[in-house]
Amino acid sequence: MLTIPTPSYVIDEGKLKKNLEILKRVQDNTGCKILLAQKCFSGFSEYELIGNYLAGCTASGLYEAKLGKEEMGKENHVFSPAYKESEIDEIAEICDHVIFNSFSQLKKYASKVAYYNQATSECGATGVGLRINPECSTQEHGIYDPCAEGSRLGVTRANFDKAMAEAEGKKAFSYVEGLHFHTLCEQNSDALETTLAAVEEKFGDILRLPEIKWLNMGGGHHITRVDYDIARLERLIKHMKYTYDVQVYLEPGEAVALNAGYMVTEVMEIVDNGIKTLILDASAACHMPDVLEMPYRPPLKDSGEAGELAYTYRLSSCTCLAGDIIGDYSFDHEIKVGDKLIFEDMAIYSMVKNNTFNGMALPSIYAMDEKGKCRLIKNFDYSDFKNRLS
Ligand SMILES: *Cc1c(COP(=O)(O)O)cnc(C)c1O
Repeated sequence: MLTIPTPSYVIDEGKLKKNLEILKRVQDNTGCKILLAQKCFSGFSEYELIGNYLAGCTASGLYEAKLGKEEMGKENHVFSPAYKESEIDEIAEICDHVIFNSFSQLKKYASKVAYYNQATSECGATGVGLRINPECSTQEHGIYDPCAEGSRLGVTRANFDKAMAEAEGKKAFSYVEGLHFHTLCEQNSDALETTLAAVEEKFGDILRLPEIKWLNMGGGHHITRVDYDIARLERLIKHMKYTYDVQVYLEPGEAVALNAGYMVTEVMEIVDNGIKTLILDASAACHMPDVLEMPYRPPLKDSGEAGELAYTYRLSSCTCLAGDIIGDYSFDHEIKVGDKLIFEDMAIYSMVKNNTFNGMALPSIYAMDEKGKCRLIKNFDYSDFKNRLS
């Protein structure tokens, strides 16, 4: 891995497979279906492998839905707070589940989507879903909390009742065959248990309707993390499945590719204006924006916390942004220009979020097989920068 050009992402196929085996076991033990949330990881060169284990893909809109259809070709689901008139026909044609976020979107599109699915779906009349908001926060990160006060994501029970009191709302809901919620982020199954109690309390009567055939419990389940309580997850899935007679779906992103990727970067320069700072050919702003958004400190191979080992450095980048700082790390040896550093857990929310701010290069993408051998999947160059601009 240290001999490939930098900056580069490396997808670890061995780790990916281990994650997929864990997820497949959950499917086998419970009868649930697990979908890849492509917004987290869209490394479609691995979709054939992923499709060998999971039931399909979920998408945040037309482009991801097309990618899932073209590259995995299994079950294809989509959720968006709003769909464009110009895109809804294509979405309906290529998706098995189209999930809406509001009654007004349902009224606008549900009959059309239901028509497409009856006409084209191989697995029968799947079709239309509605995202609900159980108004149950189980986390502190406001930016990642779809249940935060006033959140636009999902229909609250009060708004559900208001819509159902009108004939038009009732008619729109008659097309709905499944409910969807997504409220978790990097959480264990105790948070799911808390959430399901709220879902049952607020929407249990709706789940019991014979027309409701499936329940999609969203993503944010950190199933492949070492301390994740899988037994409780399986118990909860079976509880929902048998109590309400529904097919349960999960659509994790992170859990699919957790710890299954790296970014290899080179130390280009060292600046010491009171803080020893490494200038890397990688950037938080361009290549790991969650470091600044969340914020968090990405794991770095063979390093410690600041001050823990003999040599401490601040890791930064070539961009103009003063705050483009990845974090402070320590090493047991002095770092020199030309050294390579390896960031870990770089498959998720990384490649999908890259940008070319400051004209920074997009990192190449490699895949590493189970023997540790790397092969180039894709290279980017100046034309990728230029072609996005005018
Ligand atoms: C983000 C998201 C997911 C995937 O979440 P992870 O945290 O990556 O598991 C699934 N479904 C929906 C609707 C999402 O917004």
